[in-house]
Amino acid sequence: MTTPAVTASGVPTPVAAPQRSVTDLPKAHLHLHFTGSMRVATVRDLAAQHGIRLPASLTTEWPPRFETADARGWFRFQRLYDAARACVRGEADMRRIVREAAVDDGAEGSRWLEIQVDPTSYAPFVGGITPALEIVLDEAAAVSAEPGATQVGVIVAASRMRHPLEARTLARLAARYAGGGAGAVVGFGLSNDERRGVTEDFAAAFSIARRGASCWARRR
Ligand SMILES: [Zn+2]
Repeated sequence: MTTPAVTASGVPTPVAAPQRSVTDLPKAHLHLHFTGSMRVATVRDLAAQHGIRLPASLTTEWPPRFETADARGWFRFQRLYDAARACVRGEADMRRIVREAAVDDGAEGSRWLEIQVDPTSYAPFVGGITPALEIVLDEAAAVSAEPGATQVGVIVAASRMRHPLEARTLARLAARYAGGGAGAVVGFGLSNDERRGVTEDFAAAFSIARRGASCWARRR
């Protein structure tokens, strides 16, 4: 234990805490997109497995540069994002993404990760939005129990580019799996270009999700 230094007047002077590396400090990662968490090596590996040709910005011209912060820059970013998402084609790929995100975050000192996923993107490959979410939750629970990995909670996202009724369906799904810990749904949100869609149109979806969350809170 360090004794605080005391000046002649008796007022303790602050003593610098022992230096710790940022990596060692415990952290929480509260906003990580499922597709965006992918290692670039994983994107390339999945593309090869599924015979998908990736844009050069994800291969020979990596890393991509986005010079403009305007709509053009967004569309360039979105195009690459969609290309990466198109490489995710089923349960094994989805589990791999959750697992690698948890391990990579754990290695950086993260103790708690909230990963955001829109289950509709993967529903066609696994038989619907319910199995899509269950796969993510199941892997989140499994990897959270492993040493070295961070604990993983899941945020269900609805796209603001889609009809608000779709968001309501996703909110009901999120509410069904709401919980407070690893392997549970811990939040509901909107994803995609914030210049598009009117947020108020999604108020009903948020009410549904909020009711689900408060039911969970009462059950505790
Ligand atoms: Zn985001």
